[in-house]
Amino acid sequence: MGSKQLVYAFEEGDGKDKKLLGGKGANLCEMTQMGLPVPPGYVITTEACLSYLDEKKEGLQPELMKQIKNEMADLEKKTGKGFGKAEKPLLVSVRSGAAMSMPGMMDTILNLGLNDETAAGLIRQTKNERFVYDLYRRLVQLLGSIALGLDNEDYDSIFNGIKTKYKAQQDVDLNAEGLKETCEKFLDFTEKKTGKPFPQDPYDQLELAVEAVFKSWGGKRAVDYRREFKITKEMANGTAVNICTMVFGNMGDDSATGVAFTRNPGTGENRLFGEYMVNAQGEDVVAGIRTPLPITELRQEMPVIYDELEELRLTLENHYNEVQDFEFTIENGKLHCLQTRNGKMNASALIKTSIDMVNEGLISEKEALLRIQPDMLDQLLHPRLDPDADVEVLAQGLPASPGAASGKMVFDADRAQSRANLGEKVILVREETKPDDIHGFFAAQGILTSRGGKTSHAAVVARGMGKPCVSGCEAIVIDDTAKEAVISGVTLKEGDVITIDGTTGNVYKGSVPTIEPEFVEDLLVLLEWADNIGDLKVMANADTPDTVSQAKKYGAMGIGLCRTERMFNDADRLPIVQEMILAEERKEREEALERLLPYQREDFKEIFKIMDGCPVTIRLLDPPIHEFLPSAEELLHEIEHLTELRKTVDGMAELPDTLKILDPEIHKRFAANLEAINQGFEEFKDKHLDKTLIESKEVMLKKVRMLSETNPMLGHRGVRLGITYPEIYAMQIRAVLEAAAEHIEDGGKIVPEIMVPQVCTLEELKWVHRYVVEIQKDVEKKFKINVPYEFGTMVEVVRACMRAGRLAELAEFISFGTNDLTQATFSFSREDAENKFLPLYNEAGILQDNPFEVLDLKGVGRLMRITIRWARKTRPDMKIGICGEQGGHPEAIRFCHHIKMSYVSCSPPRVPIARLAAAHAKLKEAEFSLN
Ligand code: ADP
Ligand code: MG
Ligand code: MG
Repeated sequence: MGSKQLVYAFEEGDGKDKKLLGGKGANLCEMTQMGLPVPPGYVITTEACLSYLDEKKEGLQPELMKQIKNEMADLEKKTGKGFGKAEKPLLVSVRSGAAMSMPGMMDTILNLGLNDETAAGLIRQTKNERFVYDLYRRLVQLLGSIALGLDNEDYDSIFNGIKTKYKAQQDVDLNAEGLKETCEKFLDFTEKKTGKPFPQDPYDQLELAVEAVFKSWGGKRAVDYRREFKITKEMANGTAVNICTMVFGNMGDDSATGVAFTRNPGTGENRLFGEYMVNAQGEDVVAGIRTPLPITELRQEMPVIYDELEELRLTLENHYNEVQDFEFTIENGKLHCLQTRNGKMNASALIKTSIDMVNEGLISEKEALLRIQPDMLDQLLHPRLDPDADVEVLAQGLPASPGAASGKMVFDADRAQSRANLGEKVILVREETKPDDIHGFFAAQGILTSRGGKTSHAAVVARGMGKPCVSGCEAIVIDDTAKEAVISGVTLKEGDVITIDGTTGNVYKGSVPTIEPEFVEDLLVLLEWADNIGDLKVMANADTPDTVSQAKKYGAMGIGLCRTERMFNDADRLPIVQEMILAEERKEREEALERLLPYQREDFKEIFKIMDGCPVTIRLLDPPIHEFLPSAEELLHEIEHLTELRKTVDGMAELPDTLKILDPEIHKRFAANLEAINQGFEEFKDKHLDKTLIESKEVMLKKVRMLSETNPMLGHRGVRLGITYPEIYAMQIRAVLEAAAEHIEDGGKIVPEIMVPQVCTLEELKWVHRYVVEIQKDVEKKFKINVPYEFGTMVEVVRACMRAGRLAELAEFISFGTNDLTQATFSFSREDAENKFLPLYNEAGILQDNPFEVLDLKGVGRLMRITIRWARKTRPDMKIGICGEQGGHPEAIRFCHHIKMSYVSCSPPRVPIARLAAAHAKLKEAEFSLN
């Protein structure tokens, strides 16, 4: 005694212990114990596998062999057959199965126990020579290729040779004689290749097969697979081996084999779904050697069995409470069940079946919620490329904003707009984008840039709009004057169709069919359940009335970040913004601001209306103002161009005379026209349009150079701007409060939240707060009503974290800007990090993730915890949120839940994911601990 149990009969194994018995084994035990028709068998544990691999010795360990022999003896008793006995031979399958399913990683050997003698016995018993040779040839090929290291293809080509010889189209057309010849050839081939006869002792066969399965766990394919899919030892350690009595689907026309789902895995429809094949065995259905039939046909062909399958379906679902994917075999009109597991479904089917199961009383709302991984919802929210499309990748950039889009290439925003106005679908292709390009974004289906990272202007704006974007696709060389681009040696012109996939970063030539997202009724139901459970509120980052409406549609409970500068980017506003920036005097600047005010006020009013009664957090101007001007390079280029133009115009005046000398004939023909043209040019020159334009460009260039900074992101931006140009913040504050006043006047409800960016000391906050107080008084007087508001700050500077207690004296709420805070914590500039060294850091394991995508819980997260503790010491009920990009990711949301944040805010398309993740965070609270 004292030796460990390494082998469990299906009647005794614990169906819940997948770690020990593997998924397949545990379910075989479970089904057996439920009384389902599973052929008798037993499981060799994963521990036996690990111990075998540890020992690094050929041959199974004696203890294991002993336990296997005992089980075989039991199996002989249960089945009334004999392993290796010619009289009623017992045949088994040897099947692998780890705790996690690893499709196609390890193979199954069928019909083990056949040899020349038992085959002869079985022929006598069944009087079916064809059937027996069919089994035997399968065993030789399977054992040969899996356990003896021979080539599958070699067996296949021998088999094909025989099929040709016997003029058999398919394997079923081959008669007994043909199959017998196949067996002989296979046996010969195996002997020749291995130098030994094919093992005739069934225990030798069994030992070889079990060893092969064990070894496959440590094989390269399996190891790579586990690494690729991040399957850790905790999830699956070693493979179990299942030994299962053979049942035969190839015994004739009253036999079959098939696979089925308890519900349709594509649509979720509550109906048996699957395929079967008559007179076939094992993998024949999957291998596609014949076309299987849809399961509905079985209703006609074998009505009794069909009813049994229907019953099996209900039993399985009632037991597992999840959609099952199961294997069955029919042997001479008797149904056997060979495997079951949870069915893999696409997101919409998973949601539908989960909700249906709640309605059917099978599971609770909580179980339904937990069944769906939040990130899966992404599938439902963006168009995605049809996975069945057969296409070739042209180039790859960064996956900057998810979703896929096809359209004609255009190389500037104006063209994008004009072609889109004609009803064309376009993809805006730029080296990089600027605020001036914004109308192009609205017009385009998607954006492709050759430079810039995942926070480049293109990426951020596209994400905000929920449009697909591939950025930093360096393989593309763009020539926007020639209106063409060269990608991997292919020249594409304006109007050529491309497809971009912002989920993968891939770029394709031509149009790849996409599947449109469906924001289905089921999803609404599910997310409502989620909202009832989660503690965290889910807000959206949205800047314009359009995106706010979108956020509302996705179920945002408010706006956590409205970036006011985005409202400056409209085609009719940008010139005023530029005027404001170019102004030399304060008065001039105030005049420009005066004209901007109504635009902002109207936008805010619209936003308050859409979000009536919900929180709306408005951030005052943040980016360095030079971002609203063209770059010095661009301006220089334009000035040069204009100067050229002027020279050309001057040159035109001399053209007639020159021509007269050089080619009097031509001159004569065109003299009149030339004169007319020149007259036109004279008029043009008189207007001095070019001159004025050049001058204004030069003024702008001067300003651009003046504003240029070495480190703009650490320079003159955020509250620093607000303090040096108080009139800008004053205008914005007024726009917010007047919009609120008007909204309240109209009977609406709103308490706008004014948020100051880039704050590092209380003094800065005080400074801005003074304007707010003053302007509020003024607005209240003007409107003769109370205009409530809240005042708060972004926390995105390390010093602000350290001084959170102090800031909280004035700030009524704070919001973590984790994009900047991550940069500040690491002292990495995101663009440089992502372009230059982060990939290597990730590959080498120096950093596990990209902290700009996956919130760095250990560093940035810890800083946030400390900040919250200090802030709430001053103001215990303080509202605290996160509005960085990471705020939409389930892991970050889980963390935010645990550090007791009040809300997360993310881009509108991520709102549904965040809502579900907030519920998961609450439901799985116990599984997480802060360290
Ligand atoms: P996989 O994990 O690749 O599905 P399985 O071990 O389930 O591998 O087996 C492969 C095929 O062989 C399946 O179609 C299965 O139904 C069939 N099979 C396995 N064991 C038996 C058996 N004892 N009797 C009949 N068919 C079997
Ligand atoms: Mg398989
Ligand atoms: Mg299987």
